[in-house]
Amino acid sequence: MNKQKICIIGDGLAGLTTAIILSKENIKIDLYSNSSKIFLDNRTTAISESNYQYIKDNLNFNNPNIFWPCKKINLYFEDKEKIVNFFNFEEKNKKSMYIFQNKDLRKKIQKKISATNKIKIIRKNIDSIDNEEGFISYEKKKVFYDLIILCIGGRSKLYTSIEKGRSIEKNYEELALTAIVKHNIKLENASQFFLKEGPLAILPFKKKVFSVVWSVGTEFFNLNKKNIEKIVSAKLRILLKTKSIKNIANIKSFPINLNLKTKYFKRNVLILGEGLHTVHPMAGQGFNLVLRDIKKLKGLISKSLKLGLLIKDSFILKDFYNSRKPENNLLGLGINLTNIFFKDSRYFSSLKKVILINMNKFTFIKKIGQSISDKGILF
Ligand SMILES: Cc1cc2nc3c(=O)[nH]c(=O)nc-3n(C[C@H](O)[C@H](O)[C@H](O)COP(=O)(O)OP(=O)(O)OC[C@H]3O[C@@H](n4cnc5c(N)ncnc54)[C@H](O)[C@@H]3O)c2cc1C
Repeated sequence: MNKQKICIIGDGLAGLTTAIILSKENIKIDLYSNSSKIFLDNRTTAISESNYQYIKDNLNFNNPNIFWPCKKINLYFEDKEKIVNFFNFEEKNKKSMYIFQNKDLRKKIQKKISATNKIKIIRKNIDSIDNEEGFISYEKKKVFYDLIILCIGGRSKLYTSIEKGRSIEKNYEELALTAIVKHNIKLENASQFFLKEGPLAILPFKKKVFSVVWSVGTEFFNLNKKNIEKIVSAKLRILLKTKSIKNIANIKSFPINLNLKTKYFKRNVLILGEGLHTVHPMAGQGFNLVLRDIKKLKGLISKSLKLGLLIKDSFILKDFYNSRKPENNLLGLGINLTNIFFKDSRYFSSLKKVILINMNKFTFIKKIGQSISDKGILF
């Protein structure tokens, strides 16, 4: 076992996945978590075929039954009260995406972590980090590490000394409404509806159950807060042309913003996960980017350890920054442009309709879109 020690702060999807994947490098990891044991994250996440394979292979899932495979993704737009299907993603011998409930993947990884002696879970809130000396502090205690990875979500005061307020930011003034829907229809594939109120995604993750992610303006939400369940239910009945919606539960809302860090690390402290890039959920790319970041980081750490180098003094974090920043920023900004394109605007609606209706004809656009959402932009 290598004597160097890594610290990961945060046990969301990013922290847990990073811990279990880096533990393969025969290195000790301390994973700090401030969340309670029974954490109910009812959100679902869609990942690409490549990322699904990466998780399946690296986490040694023998029976990955928590993942729902979708062959097709159907895209629709709203045109004067009519719902028009303008584009479908489907590839031969390949799934378009895999959907899972966040809490199921977290549980699976937590179980793997308890079975290894390379990761120690420490249930503490980290108050501060010192990136000059390379230590973290809690309850007046200082602990030194060779590498400190911050997987502490979109916003945290712990980022301040690294980013120094420099990042690409935008407040969309939108909220993502999420809910779990039980139904009685045959629904196996995912759909995205670009509606006047904002994009609405239907993501099946079990037989007769799907999750909805509907991004709406804060103003719309505040006006309709009291009746939101009825509104979501009525909308789904129209979109799916069915009365077989049995139950809508767990309606939650998440503020939406764009945050792309321009600085990723300072000395031996690295930001990872939502803290590095928070993107609009309409494209379902956030965790996909995180997985590609983890893959790159693992490769760099592995190479450095094989060469017998000290993580602390190596170029790992600089190389990570140089190779991941272009894709993270390009995709984040691309998703932002897509969001602007689909916004309800009376000036561009005719032009938008022409572009969308003809999109299926441009097979090369389809191929590029499929490749980027599967493997990212390869640099
Ligand atoms: C509505 C919605 C839908 C989404 N859908 C998709 C999708 O379909 N596909 C996709 O790829 N991505 C999607 N995403 C993005 C995806 O959910 C995130 O990228 C992913 O969950 C990773 O989050 P994270 O672990 O970085 O952060 P978080 O989930 O925020 O976890 C951070 C953790 O750090 C802990 N923590 C914070 N501060 C401290 C501290 N000081 N000390 C100790 N612990 C601390 C917190 O308790 C928490 O457990 C979606 C996001 C949203 C909001």
